[in-house]
Order: sequence, then structure tokens, then C-alpha cells
Amino acid sequence: MSIDKFSSRIEFSAMTHFVRDLEDEGRSPVFRTMESATTDHVVVSGRSRIMLGSNNYLGLANHPRVIDAAQAALRRFGAASTGSRVANGTCSLHRTLEDELAQWHNTESAVLFPTGYQANVGTISALVRPGDTVILDWAAHASIHDGARLAGAHIEHFNHNSADELRALLVGARAVPTLVVVDGLYSMEGDIAPLDEIAALCREFSAMLMVDEAHSVGILGATRTGAVELFGMQDDVDIRMGTLSKGLGSIGGYVVGPEDLTDYLRTHARAYQFTTAGTPAAVGAAVEAVRIAQSDEGAERTARLIANVDLLRGALAAHDVETIAPTVLPDGTSAPGPIVPAIVADEQTLIEVWNRLFDQGIFSGISVFPGVRIGNPLLRLCVTADHSIADLEFVAKSIASLRPAESIDAPALTH
Ligand code: PMP
Repeated sequence: MSIDKFSSRIEFSAMTHFVRDLEDEGRSPVFRTMESATTDHVVVSGRSRIMLGSNNYLGLANHPRVIDAAQAALRRFGAASTGSRVANGTCSLHRTLEDELAQWHNTESAVLFPTGYQANVGTISALVRPGDTVILDWAAHASIHDGARLAGAHIEHFNHNSADELRALLVGARAVPTLVVVDGLYSMEGDIAPLDEIAALCREFSAMLMVDEAHSVGILGATRTGAVELFGMQDDVDIRMGTLSKGLGSIGGYVVGPEDLTDYLRTHARAYQFTTAGTPAAVGAAVEAVRIAQSDEGAERTARLIANVDLLRGALAAHDVETIAPTVLPDGTSAPGPIVPAIVADEQTLIEVWNRLFDQGIFSGISVFPGVRIGNPLLRLCVTADHSIADLEFVAKSIASLRPAESIDAPALTH
């Protein structure tokens, strides 16, 4: 009986049918197969296309030194770590990476998870208990929402980047232990959390604050550790989490902070304990990528990335393509991140736009529910340090050429 219920759930899933129909028509923007390495270009369906849909912001996934380090790790330690970090899964590279992440972030300690998803789920579910409150920005990453759910916490949401709404929720949550979690730089909207206001509120209401730097590490701040550093909030943020899977060109998640926190996570985070440790090649690659990110070359790559973002934003604006604007910091300066989201009228238009760009030799990204709220789809353009000026100008011109037939203008986002 219950099998029938599960079968019908699977059989009649609207989402599955929607994706299948698009795949049958050869028009699906999702689950495409990459036929080459993902650099500023990628081969898909037999043709090289400009890649505007990857998280390889600094180009480190293809850096010769990162590849050499991965190969050296593979040769020395083999293809697998063969166990949990708790048992036999720790090799010297895990320790080196943790030490260097801690040094870079100027914290006592770091703890490495196999993925960023596990870092969020493991950390939040280890710290929070049923009866506690977790307050999240609606746009916070799915792994943050999932960690809070797994913890059995009471969960509240505030509208994207609304410090006023956060204050109202903190007033309501006063009596219980409360954790506030936000992204430093949002993966879909591409904007930055107002960490100065959020940290001040957490201090006022004695809430713990955790910031996810998945998209900002390697990019924001004087030493490029992320949005917390950009705002100078290192002493005000209790938990700084990040990933190695985007700007840092590998895979893995981490938490940096006091040793009491990281030792607690090592002994209580089930997503750390009950899973196989990150593979040697990935950890070796990450060690080298973290070294490059901190060096003069890292600074140059970040500067090139931001120059490219400015160029694409300028070209899109020149063609009247509406985007979510970069964040303006308290000192009045603009802080662009690598993600440039163009506003699209609806999901059908987005699929049409994506396919027309694909036909013109551009692989872009899409943000649809549940990545964003229903009715707020975005064409997600991810710039890298390696894109050429000619390619970015071509992309802007191609997007503009889709109008007015496939207008991508729509009312501004509501969250
Ligand atoms: N946090 C954020 C903000 C993310 O965008 C992602 C990945 N999309 C993650 C966490 C999860 O990281 P990973 O891909 O390393 O599991």
C-alpha cells in the first residue's frame, strides 16, 4: 500500500516530467554533459561555448600548479582516503589544508568537511537542538535550511537582506538560544549580506552568527577570506564557513574559528564523522589553490575577475539589460561579486533565453525555484578571471539581441 503511494509520487512528479520533456526536445538547461574541462570555455553538445555558468571564478580549477598538486597527491596517497576522518581517513594533506586555512583566516583552527553542503548541515545540526531557534535569510543556501531542519529547530525566515525583519524576529526569539545564518555573498542574487547591521543585531540580542563564505572566499576582503573580512567583522562573527568548490577550484567545505568550536564539530558533527574523508587529489588541489589565492597571483586573479565583472555589467547596462545591482557598502563604494544575475520575466522566457544563448555559443546558468523564490527566475551569469573582453562583450550583445522578442525585463525582485 505505501509502496503504491511512493510509486505514484515518483511517477507523477511534475518537475521530473518537465525536465524530461525539455530533455526530449533537446532544450534542457539542466543536467547537460560537459565534454571538456570547464575553463572560460567548455565543449557541450560537440561545440566549444563561452562558459558563463561555472563557479570557477578565479580559474584555479585548471591552474597548472593545482593540477600538478592533485596528481602528486593522487600518486602518493591513492585514489581514495578509504575511511572517515575519525578513523583512518586523515592524511597529512588534510592537516596541512586545515592549518593553512586557519592561518589564512587568522583563526585558531579549521575543520575540513568533504563538501560545503556537509559543512553546513553538519555544523548547524551539531550546534542546534530542538527548542532552539534558527533565523535564516530566505535566500540562504539550501544546505543551511537543511541543517536547521535536521536539528529540529524552530526556524524563522526574514526577507532577503532585511535587517529590520531580522530585528523583529530576534525580539520574538529573545528567550531561547538563537543562531542566525546568512550567506556572505548570495549564490543566486550575487549580492552581499549587510554584515555590519546583522552582526550588531546579533550582539544586541545575544544570538550566535554564522556566515557562509562559499562564493566570497578568494574574492572579498583585503586578504580575500570573504565578506566577513570585507566588513571587518572577524571578531563579531562566531562561525565562518566556506567551500573549496568555487573560487578555490576543488571540492570540500570548512569551518574556521576557535579550537573549542572545531574540536566540538569533530566530535559531534555527524556529516563529518559518518562519511569518507575528502579524496587526496581534491585535498592536494585545494592546498595549492589556497596558497595561490593568498599570493600576489591570487590578488591579480581577483582584480582581473572584478574588472571582467565591471565590464560585463557595463556592457549589459549599455544594452539596457536589467540586472540585480552590486551591493553598495556603508562607505558608499560598490562591491561587485562574480555572479551577475539578469532579471527575466518568467520561467518559460528563461528557458527560451538560455537556449537562444546556447545556440549562439554561450553556456549560461539559470536560477529557478527552489534556488530562488517562485516567480523570480534569473539568468545567472558567472564571470571568471580568465574571460576575455571580446567574449564578455559578445555575451552582452547576444543577450541584448534577444529583445524585444524574448524580453528579459520584469519587475524587480520582491525579496
Ligand atoms: N553554500 C553555498 C552558499 C553554496 O552556494 C553552496 C554550493 N552551491 C554550498 C554551500 C555547498 O557547497 P558544496 O558545493 O561544496 O557542497
